[in-house]
Amino acid sequence: MENLDNQYLLLTPGPLSTSRTVREAMLRDWCTWDDEYNKDIVEAIRKQLVELATGAEGYTSVLMQGSGTASVEATIGSIIPQQGKLLVVNNGAYGERIGQIAQYLNIEHTIIELGEVVQPNAAQLADIIDNDPAITHVAMVHCETTTGMLNPVEAVCDVVKSRNKIMILDAMSSFGGIPLDIGKLGIDFMISSANKCIQGVPGFGFVIARQDELEKCKGRARSLSLDLYDQWQCMENNHGKWRFTSPTHTVRAFYQAMQELHEEGGVEARYQRYASNQKILVAGMEKLGFKCLLDKSLHSPIITSFYSPEADEYEFKMFYNLLKEKGFVIYPGKVSNADCFRIGNIGDVYNADMRRLIDAIESAMYWV
Ligand SMILES: *Cc1c(COP(=O)(O)O)cnc(C)c1O
Repeated sequence: MENLDNQYLLLTPGPLSTSRTVREAMLRDWCTWDDEYNKDIVEAIRKQLVELATGAEGYTSVLMQGSGTASVEATIGSIIPQQGKLLVVNNGAYGERIGQIAQYLNIEHTIIELGEVVQPNAAQLADIIDNDPAITHVAMVHCETTTGMLNPVEAVCDVVKSRNKIMILDAMSSFGGIPLDIGKLGIDFMISSANKCIQGVPGFGFVIARQDELEKCKGRARSLSLDLYDQWQCMENNHGKWRFTSPTHTVRAFYQAMQELHEEGGVEARYQRYASNQKILVAGMEKLGFKCLLDKSLHSPIITSFYSPEADEYEFKMFYNLLKEKGFVIYPGKVSNADCFRIGNIGDVYNADMRRLIDAIESAMYWV
């Protein structure tokens, strides 16, 4: 299905290409005091998000203004007590960012530095936790959008939960696109945002939390506007009311995007589409002579890093512009020690689009 009203497809995971119907849902204004916004849209979204995240009881959700990072910062800054200590698993820019947030907020923390092409190892993680009894919370990214790495969330949660630590998962670029039951894994706080696999437009993030853990967080926040507990209380006690100006149009578009996810067949169906998109992408690219940064066994079906061509004439910007003229926007690399570029395959993007992309890339290879 071609997205003809857009000049190009965004193969950049966040923001990404959205459907016309999601964009059209923004064509009216909403009053934030009325039930038709708060009860019928915000509360419905909060409930649906929990249902999407788990079949288990005891979970609740909070929506938070800002880009995804604001929701990560709200979580880290609001749930770790003064005496707490955070262990951060870092194998990419987003893991690194969690460490930076802890640093900014003066939260005691330790970082496991793995580099960008290595997955965390359960035994090593267990060892670190067992040797540092001060650690209370562990944070990890699910799909590291830096490279496309899918981290081993089950094995990590096993270690963390068997030691009774609080598990925080940044599932920004995977939630809604990769099946995951956070209740089964014992995840306490999971963070994602509107403009990734749910295929909404940017403007807010959300946190799905174990309610008994969130209840303990009163007064812990290190920021007023990013107080996760307070935002949750406001929504709980006032039928979906946000504390401060809510991004109404974005929220309404998200409601439409949730409906479209349901119509597609839910997370499993979306996962199948993304996975087949990524397979077509990688097979096509390999045929053209490109090489993936990561081994297939480490890969998510969300975004793929490719090594840049070695030809002297190759220049990313030139390649990027040629592809953009042909209707596709790709992503520069973000890996520090390898020259790469990235192509995302999430959003309102289908198998036929990936095949068109491969043809466009072939004709844009001006260096061969
Ligand atoms: C997109 C993303 C974020 C948040 O990025 P923002 O630019 O703040 O929306 C955080 N973590 C991961 C893994 C992401 O992919």
